[in-house]
Amino acid sequence: MTDLVLYDTAARQKRAFVPLDENRVTMYVCGPTVYSTAHIGNFRPAITFDVLFRVLRHHYGEDQVVYARNITDVDDKINAAAASEGVDISVITDRYAKVYREDSAALNILRPSLEPAATAHMDEMGALIKTLVDDGFAYAAEGHVLFDVTAYEDYGKLSGRSQDDLMAGARVEVAPYKKNPSDFVLWKPSEPGDPVWDSPFGPGRPGWHLECSAMIKKQLGETIDIHGGGADLVFPHHENEIAQSTCAHGGKTLANYWMHNGFLSIDAEKMSKSLGNFVKPNELLEAGIKGETIRYAMLTGHYRAPLDWNDTLIERSQKSLDRLYGVLRRLKAVDATHAQPTEAVMKALNDDLNTPKALAALFEIAGRANKADTRDAQAQAKGELLAAGRLLGLFETDPDAWFGLESLSEDEKAEIDDLLAQRAEARKAKDFARADAIRDELTAKGVQAEDGPEGTTWRMKG
Ligand code: AMP
Ligand code: ZN
Repeated sequence: MTDLVLYDTAARQKRAFVPLDENRVTMYVCGPTVYSTAHIGNFRPAITFDVLFRVLRHHYGEDQVVYARNITDVDDKINAAAASEGVDISVITDRYAKVYREDSAALNILRPSLEPAATAHMDEMGALIKTLVDDGFAYAAEGHVLFDVTAYEDYGKLSGRSQDDLMAGARVEVAPYKKNPSDFVLWKPSEPGDPVWDSPFGPGRPGWHLECSAMIKKQLGETIDIHGGGADLVFPHHENEIAQSTCAHGGKTLANYWMHNGFLSIDAEKMSKSLGNFVKPNELLEAGIKGETIRYAMLTGHYRAPLDWNDTLIERSQKSLDRLYGVLRRLKAVDATHAQPTEAVMKALNDDLNTPKALAALFEIAGRANKADTRDAQAQAKGELLAAGRLLGLFETDPDAWFGLESLSEDEKAEIDDLLAQRAEARKAKDFARADAIRDELTAKGVQAEDGPEGTTWRMKG
């Protein structure tokens, strides 16, 4: 058993992680609805569960972890986008799935093992509905098929809502064909002009919740280890996934651990597409902010806590990465030892993915790397930094490229490094006139130097 402990939304506490089969750890995360470009908030679950994917692979082996993140390619908003452009929905979904993959790559998010699409699981959805109707958990009415929430005793358990609360709190105008206000749609007729699929209950389209239940079953099995998504999905989406899957599978548990990330706000407001205050990764990248800086900023908060996205966060994150990349640049000529992540990094990540603590532990290694006075000690510290980086998805850039030094020759870089070293010597000797003269010379060359606890880093102005 590993030391990994995860907060389980269903248990409302942290629990030691024990997979059903340690040779095949399964994880499903609700993925993007591909009707427009995803904003940075949509990437919080992608980055959170990417870190978990990396940690699980570290513990169980790269080939033992099966991570499925779906593409929701059946949705009203997709239909609306396709209709407004006068194209097939696949034009819209292909376009935005591609953008999502490109943005993910820029944020060092690994491709999940599987990326199932809802449109490829219509047969499985039909079969699930049929089982639910045959077994008395769902009913057909006026072209719709609805799940009868009173047929499932544990309905509301994940989100901590009682059936009575749900009945009383149903705000939606109740459709006349529903037996109970909280009954939810498994299948419904398509609007005129919208895509239509066949089912045992007539032509139409699936409900969103059903899409995930069908994909989980087909791709991973009836019971999975971990199910994740944003906190807004606990109710009703995940509650409904549980109801459908549990009732269709003779009471079998759908997921043993439920994990939910907190929300990202922007300048203290909740980020949402409808408010229009979203920031998109490619807008940030175009503004010169690096993908790794965005990722680092996201990891500065614990995944369950809310995180506010603002310019200060981005600036601080870039500075922190500059310090760490500065260390890697100084050790460029040192061959890293093939090290394991340090105990401090591992302990932090094993404790329900405490990424802020893991990032803090990087600076302890950086400090050690700087003080190291033997080649072995430097190689070890560099190896430890890179090993931690592999778990966090950091340090995937060449250190010279990080500082934008690609256009300089090795000699030019060496000359500037040497001038900076001379400046440090002059300062140490309190020869401030000499230090200032060197600074002026560097400024004239367009060098922008930044002094930090791990030493001086520099980049070219412009
Ligand atoms: P969607 O594409 O809207 O279906 O959302 C994809 C994922 O992003 C879901 O898991 C949402 O819970 C999550 N999500 C959406 N907005 C935010 C936000 N501002 N902060 C964190 N997660 C979010
Ligand atoms: Zn889902």
